[in-house]
Amino acid sequence: MKNYNVTVLKGDGIGPEIVNEAIKVLDRVCELYGFKINYNYQLIGGSAIDETGVPLPQATVDACKASDAVLLGAVGGPKWDKLSGNVRPEAGLLAIRSALGLFANLRPAQIFAPLKSASPIKDSIIGDELDLLVVRELIGGIYFGERGRKEVNGAPAAYDTEMYSVPEVERIARVAFDAARKRKGKLMSVDKANVLESSRLWRETVIRISEEYPDVELSHMYVDNCAMQLVRNPGQFDVIVTSNIFGDILSDEASMISGSIGMLASASLAEGSMGLYEPIHGSAPDIAGMGIANPLATILSTAMMLRYSFSENDAAQAIENAVNEALATARTPDIYEEGKEKLSTQQMGDLVVSLLK
Ligand code: NAD
Repeated sequence: MKNYNVTVLKGDGIGPEIVNEAIKVLDRVCELYGFKINYNYQLIGGSAIDETGVPLPQATVDACKASDAVLLGAVGGPKWDKLSGNVRPEAGLLAIRSALGLFANLRPAQIFAPLKSASPIKDSIIGDELDLLVVRELIGGIYFGERGRKEVNGAPAAYDTEMYSVPEVERIARVAFDAARKRKGKLMSVDKANVLESSRLWRETVIRISEEYPDVELSHMYVDNCAMQLVRNPGQFDVIVTSNIFGDILSDEASMISGSIGMLASASLAEGSMGLYEPIHGSAPDIAGMGIANPLATILSTAMMLRYSFSENDAAQAIENAVNEALATARTPDIYEEGKEKLSTQQMGDLVVSLLK
């Protein structure tokens, strides 16, 4: 039987509640699809500060590095807001991303058919269903480039530098082509090659890598046009691959199309198959401990884990199907709609488990 090792970081606020439901779902797909997951529970964020004095203890880093994947709830809360920058809970998050070398961020923007009314986009534009994936380069480009202040013609000025090396573009392109292969086989590379030299290198490199993926249909789009197309005709996209800064903006735009923060999963991948999987929302301290948090983003993050780190595609699909089916009849309060059954966090987890096939 295949065995996978997962480090679980429940974190703060609603983190423990939503991760518990996700584990229940994983346990059931293990039974149904014949593999085993060993969990190693570790501390991160505010709860780590309370127990160890730091937001990312070395034991957590060691456990994550020794595992096949990491499942994270969320970190942060008002209790730790007064702490200074590098000892705040959120510092733990940045530190674990860098310790694991997570260079690719994958964010699906998905609208399950029963949730179409939650989207700010008209039904006629969304069509039957919407399912696109933004692949963002995460540790290069202008956010990490040379920056500084100087004087220009006697006036204070500041600059930041966008730079990508060929190997950096090659590895993110391969992640995106691989993802497209697991989906509908279409990849849109987004750049600003009409203006930026770094984008021209990006485009040349993506075209060269496409020769390794003759089964994936590659197209290119300028970032300004992509921002428009995402709201004009989002259904045209399958996978979008882009740089750190363009991906930061476009993935937020794309995630708003779904209209419900409690539904959105994400994956951050390192070289090989290691990945960190987490909902895109935070620790929601306003509802922590009330048993009403929506666990579906975390449950959908486990589906991404199965697909991208373990290649257990059938099990991943089973989770997504069960979530879709659950939404047809029931909702947590954040996405509640008249006529549906209102469920607690735990009840929603149980419903998804019962619908797994
Ligand atoms: P948030 O995402 O935690 O909450 C925003 C709003 O959405 C709140 O009203 C919350 O109740 C609601 N919400 C979020 N997730 C939900 C869910 N699963 N079900 C139902 N409702 C949900 O953002 P925030 O309030 O800006 O931040 C709260 C804390 O989380 C802060 O300390 C922040 O730093 C931290 N944070 C952590 C992460 C992370 O761990 N990745 C990301 C963002 C924010």
